[in-house]
Amino acid sequence: MAGHQVNWDGKQITVAGLGVSGVPAARALAGLGARVTAVNGSDGERERAQAAELQALGVTVRLGDGDTLPEGAELVVTTPGWKPSSPLFRAAEQAGVPVWGDVELAWRLRGPDAAPWLAVTGTNGKTTTVRMLASILEAAGLRTAAVGNIGVSLIDVVLSGEPYDVLAVELSSYQLHWAPSLRVHSAAVLNLAPDHLDWHGSMAAYAADKGRIYEGNEVACVYNADDTADPATEALVREADVVEGCRAIGFTLGPPAPSQLGVVDGILVDRAFVANRQKQAQELAEVADVNPPAPHNIANALAAAALARAYGVEPAAVRDGLRAFRPDAHRIEHVADVDGVAYVDDSKATNTHAAEASLAAYDPIVWIAGGLAKGAAFDDLVAAAAGRLRGVVLMGADRALIGEALARHAADVPVVDLERTDTGAMAAAVREATRLARPGDTVLMAPACASMDMFANYNERGDAFADAVRALATGRDATER
Ligand code: ADP
Repeated sequence: MAGHQVNWDGKQITVAGLGVSGVPAARALAGLGARVTAVNGSDGERERAQAAELQALGVTVRLGDGDTLPEGAELVVTTPGWKPSSPLFRAAEQAGVPVWGDVELAWRLRGPDAAPWLAVTGTNGKTTTVRMLASILEAAGLRTAAVGNIGVSLIDVVLSGEPYDVLAVELSSYQLHWAPSLRVHSAAVLNLAPDHLDWHGSMAAYAADKGRIYEGNEVACVYNADDTADPATEALVREADVVEGCRAIGFTLGPPAPSQLGVVDGILVDRAFVANRQKQAQELAEVADVNPPAPHNIANALAAAALARAYGVEPAAVRDGLRAFRPDAHRIEHVADVDGVAYVDDSKATNTHAAEASLAAYDPIVWIAGGLAKGAAFDDLVAAAAGRLRGVVLMGADRALIGEALARHAADVPVVDLERTDTGAMAAAVREATRLARPGDTVLMAPACASMDMFANYNERGDAFADAVRALATGRDATER
C-alpha cells in the first residue's frame, strides 16, 4: 500500500486504540471510504464518548477487547502507546497484516507536493526544540506549524489542505518504531538516555527506534556532538542509510569544529552552513537570546538552528525566532520569588535525565522529587547534585528509591519524607521546602519521575505546585511572574 495512491474505498482497516492519535486516524480513514473498526482495551467514560463520535461517522467500535484482530482486517493502524508485544500485533503478524503507526499513515497520506518535514526526537527537549524551530521558521516568513507528538495529529495536519511551506515535527520513539517508510528532509536526535525501556525492551531497541528518524534524510542528520552516551547520537547517524550528499551536522556547547554549530564567547555560531567551513563561522544569535539560557536549552536552540539552517533559513531569522520563543508551561518555569527564595516548576522533568539538566542550573537547591520511577536508578543523578542540595522533600510512590540514593551519596542533606498522597500533598511539600530554604535558594520541583501515581499528568502536578506557591506568596514579600 503506497498511501495517497491507495484506493481506500472499502479497505478493511483496524485502528488500535482511541485517544489523540487513534480518533483522528479512524476519522480520516472513514472519510477516505475505508471500512474501519476501532478497538480499545479499556471501556471507560472517555472511550465511550470517543466511540459515539466515531460511530456517527460509520466506524465500528469495539471497546473492552484490544487483543483480537477483527475478521478480514487488511491493515492495522496503531496509536503509538501500544506495546509491540501486544497480542493484536502478534495476530496481525501471523495473518500477514501490516501494522502502521499514526505517523506512517500521515506520511503515506501526504500528497506529491506536500511540505517537507524537519523532524526532532530525543529523550528530552523535543517539544522545546520543535517550538523553537517553528518560531525560527515563522520569523523567516515561512508558513509552518509545530506538529506531531507535541499534541497535534499529523494525520489532521496532512489532510487539512493548509498550504504549509515546511513542518516542524516532534516524533516519539514509539511513533518512529511504527513508521518504517518515513524519509524526512532533515532530522535531529537531541540526546539518548534510558527511558521507556519497559516499552522497547532494551536500550539498544530504544536507540534503534530513535535512530530511524535519520533513515533517508535528504539534507542533514543533526546529532549531539557533546553526547557521550552509549550509543551516542552520532553513532546513529553513521548507521543510517541517507540520500547521497546528506550531511552529518553536530551541535556542541563548546566552539564548533567544521560542520558543527556551537558557542564562542556567548555567541551561537554556525560552522556548517557557510561557504568556507574551514575558515569561516557565521554568528546566529547570542546566548542571552535563548529563553531560558540554561545549558541544556542552548543545546536545544542549536539543534533547532541547525535544522532551520539546513532548510536554508537566514541567520537573522534564527536570532529573531529564538528571541520570540517562550517556553511551554511546567518546563523550568519560574513561578514566584517569596521571601528571597525562587520557586521553579519543572514538573515536565519526568525522568532522571531531564531532572539532571535542571538540577545543574541552580545552586543551592531545595529539591522536591518523587513519583513513579518507571524502573529508573537514581544514584548518578543524586551523586551529581549532592553538593548543591540544601534539602530534599520526597513524595510519591517510589520516593524510597530516591531516599536510598540520597542516603548513599548525600547523607548530610536533610530529607523530609512525605507519606501523604491526598490532594493537599503538594501544598505540604511546598511548606516543607519553604522551611528548609534560605534566602537566595531555589525550591525546584523537578521530580525525576512520572506523575500518574498522584496526579492525572505532569500539568496537574505543576499546577498544584504553582497554586501552593501562590498561596504561600499571598501576604508575603513576593514577586510573581
Ligand atoms: P520532551 O518533549 O522531549 O519531553 P521538553 O522540551 O518538553 O521535552 O522538556 C522536558 C524536560 O526535559 C524539561 O522540563 C527539562 O527539564 C528537560 N530538558 C529539556 N531539554 C533538555 C535537554 N536538551 N537535555 C536534557 N534535559 C532537557
